[in-house]
Amino acid sequence: MGLFKKLGRQAEQFKQDMQSAAKETTDQDGKTYYCKRCEETFAGPSEQCPECNSTDIEIVT
Ligand SMILES: [Zn+2]
Repeated sequence: MGLFKKLGRQAEQFKQDMQSAAKETTDQDGKTYYCKRCEETFAGPSEQCPECNSTDIEIVT
């Protein structure tokens, strides 16, 4: 039984790592932006696409 508990904790830790890794792609407000022109997604706080400098973007999250 002890082994299952250990594996369960590792799985939980892995999940938390995935969540924190996902947060790194967003800005302080947790927003992700999508550029309609070049279909690039990027993190703020800029509301201008870093790839093509288009301001025709929308907030994904
Ligand atoms: Zn773009």
